[in-house]
Amino acid sequence: MVEMKYVPTICPYCGTGCGLNLVVVDNKVVGVEPWKRHPVNEGKLCPKGTFAHEFFQRDDRLTKPLIRVGAAADYEGAAIVDVPISKITDGSNFREAEWDEALDLIASKIKNYKPEEVGFLACARSPNENIYITQKFARAVIGTHNVDHCARICHGPTVAGLARTFGSGAMTNDFISIESSDVIFIIGSNNLEAHPLFGRRVIRAKKNGAKIIVLDPRYTPTAKLADLYIDFKSGGDVALLNGIMKIIIDEGLQDDEFIENRTKNYQKLKETVSKYDLDTVAKITEADPEKIKKAALMYAKAENSAIVYSLGITEHRHGADNVMANANLAMLTGNIGKVGSGVNPLRGQNNVQGACDMGALPTDYPGYQKVVSVAAQKAVEENWSCTLDNCAPGLTVVEMIHASARGDVKCMYITGEDPVLSDPETNHVIEAMENLDFLVVQDTFMSETARYADVILPAAGWGEQEGTFTNGERRVQLVRKAVDAPGEAKYDWQIMKEIAERIDPKFAEEFTYNNAEEIFDEMRKITPQYAGMNRERLERPEALHWPCPTEDHPGQGLMHIDKFAHPDGLGVFEPADYIGPSELPDEDYPLILTTTRTIFHYHASMTRRCKTLDKELPTGYVEINTVDAKNLGIINRETVKVKSRRGEIEIPARVTDDIVEGEVNIPMHFFECAANFLTTSRELDPKSKMAELKVCAVVIEKL
Ligand code: SF4
Repeated sequence: MVEMKYVPTICPYCGTGCGLNLVVVDNKVVGVEPWKRHPVNEGKLCPKGTFAHEFFQRDDRLTKPLIRVGAAADYEGAAIVDVPISKITDGSNFREAEWDEALDLIASKIKNYKPEEVGFLACARSPNENIYITQKFARAVIGTHNVDHCARICHGPTVAGLARTFGSGAMTNDFISIESSDVIFIIGSNNLEAHPLFGRRVIRAKKNGAKIIVLDPRYTPTAKLADLYIDFKSGGDVALLNGIMKIIIDEGLQDDEFIENRTKNYQKLKETVSKYDLDTVAKITEADPEKIKKAALMYAKAENSAIVYSLGITEHRHGADNVMANANLAMLTGNIGKVGSGVNPLRGQNNVQGACDMGALPTDYPGYQKVVSVAAQKAVEENWSCTLDNCAPGLTVVEMIHASARGDVKCMYITGEDPVLSDPETNHVIEAMENLDFLVVQDTFMSETARYADVILPAAGWGEQEGTFTNGERRVQLVRKAVDAPGEAKYDWQIMKEIAERIDPKFAEEFTYNNAEEIFDEMRKITPQYAGMNRERLERPEALHWPCPTEDHPGQGLMHIDKFAHPDGLGVFEPADYIGPSELPDEDYPLILTTTRTIFHYHASMTRRCKTLDKELPTGYVEINTVDAKNLGIINRETVKVKSRRGEIEIPARVTDDIVEGEVNIPMHFFECAANFLTTSRELDPKSKMAELKVCAVVIEKL
C-alpha cells in the first residue's frame, strides 16, 4: 500500500521563512503543497518555494565520505581503502571512504594546528542546532574564535550598524507591520524578486493606500510598483540619506519629542547632515534633486513610515554607515517602536538571522555576548564545562580567506557554504583554498569549494533533519524531517560530536546530544533572546519571535516600543560622511558593475538542481543600458567579455533601459559566468568587515 504524508516545514531559501508542506510518498519527497494558515505566507509561495522538492532524489547527492587521494598518506595509521574514484568528482582525485577513516583523518590533522591556524564557516541554510554546534566545536574543542558565516558579506553591516544605533542588530518590526504603513521607503531592495512573499505584503499595503518610494540604480520589478522612483549612482547611499535628513530638519519636520526623550547625539547628526545640500547630493549621486526633496517630505510627513532595505545598502565598504544612516532617519522622525514604521532589513538566507543569533560570529558567543567580555566567557564556560582561555575576537570570512592565501590559516572546516562561488574575488578565493594545508567541506552536493577539499563529508539536508530556523523578522520556527538522508549522510551536529570525541575522549561528556531538541535546550540556557522557547511552544504555527526571555513571555514582534536595547534605553544617532566606493570607473574600466539575485535562483547548489527553475533561467547575463550597448556595438543576447582588474568572464548581454547608463548588473548565481570573478575583496568596511560587493569597475569587450 502506498504511504503518503504531508510534513509541515519552512522553506529552505530566503529569510522570509514561508511555511509549506512537503508531500512524501513511500519515503520520497514528491511535491510541495501550501500551508494555508501559515502566518508568514498564508499558503502562497514564490517559484523557489513551489519547486523546492525538486532537489530531492538527485543522483548527484553526496552519500559517502570522500578523501582526496594523497591526503590520507599524511596520516600514519589511516587505513587506505581501495575503492573506485567517485563518479561525481569530474576527474578530481577523490576516493570513497568509510566514516571511521574520514573522521580519524580529520581529528588527527585538525588537533595538530594552533587554534589560530584553523577557521570555520558555519552554514546559514542549516538549522540553528547545527550552527550552535559548529561554533561550540570551534571554540570549545579547537580553541578558536575564527568562526563566521555568509552574513558577513550579506547583512554583517546590519548587525554592526543597528547594534550601534538601536542596541540590537535585527529587524525592528514584524513582516505584517508593513501593511499598516502610510509610506514605505525602499532602498537597495528588490523584494518582489528576492523576498517575494514579503513583496506581496508591500503590494497589499499599496492597495491599502500606502505610498511607495523606491531608491535603486535599477528599475526593478519593485521599483515599478513605486509612486516615486529615484535612480541614483551605486554607492551614493550615505549622501542621499544625509541629504534627505537635511531637508527634513530644514523643513522642521523632525520629531523633537522623540529626539529629546529617546535618543542622544542629535547635535552631531545635525552638524554632519548640514553639509549635504541638494546640489552636493545631486552631484554625488546623480539623483534628481526634486525627487529627493519629494521623498524627504513624503517620508517625514506620514504618520507611519517604514524603511525597507537589503543588500543594496549593506554590500559596500561603507555598509554599516549606510545602515546607520537609515537608522538615523527613522529616529529623526520618530518612526521606531510603532506598527507600520521601523527599520526593516530583509535577510538573505533562510537562517542567516539564526546563524548570527547562535554566535557563528568571531566577535560574539550565542545571543550577541561579546567574546571580549570576561563575564560572558565565564557564563559560557560554566554552561559548556570547559575552559576558553581566549578573549580576542577571531577572523571574519574574508579575513580567513586572506589569511589562508598568506598561509596564516592552514586548515578550514566549511559546512554548507561555497565561498568559491559566493565570496568576492573568486580567483583569490581559489588561491586561498589551494594554499590550505587541509580543507574539510561538509555539504549535501559537490560544491565549487568542495573540489579543493581534502575530505568531503556527506551531510543531511533540508527535509532530512529536525531543528529550527529563525527568519528575518526574528520568528523562530520548527523545521521537520520528512525523509531519511540518502546513503550514509549524517547530521552536522552528529559529525562534529564524533570528531570531538576522537580529538579528546573528554568531549564525549560534553557533546552528549541524541537529537536536535537537546541541543536547543542547551542553547537557550546561554542565549537570553531564546530563553523562554521550547519545543511545545514552537509547535504552534505562529511559533515565537525573539526576544522571548521567559516561558510565560509571548515573544515580541515589535521592538524598541518605549526604549532601545542599549543599557540606558536610548537610541544613538551615528552620523557618517559619504566616502563612496573603493573602486570607481576610469579610462580602462569605464563601467560600474553591481550584482543581484533573481526570482528563480538563490544558492546555486540547490536551485540549479531544480529542473523547473533551471529551465526558467539556465545561466547568467549582464544587463547593460541601451545607450551603453549602442556605443559599444553590442546587441541583445550577444556573448561579451566582462573584465575587471581581478578576472574576466564571458556572458550573454541583456540590453535594457532598466539600469542607469554607466552601470551593468550580473546575477550572482552562475559559476560559469560568476560575477565574483570581477568583484573585489581588498578593502573592507572597518565597522563590519563587509567587502565592496555592490560596486567595482569593469570594461565590456566584444568577442
Ligand atoms: Fe521561500 Fe522566500 Fe519564496 Fe517564501 S519568499 S517561498 S521563503 S524563497
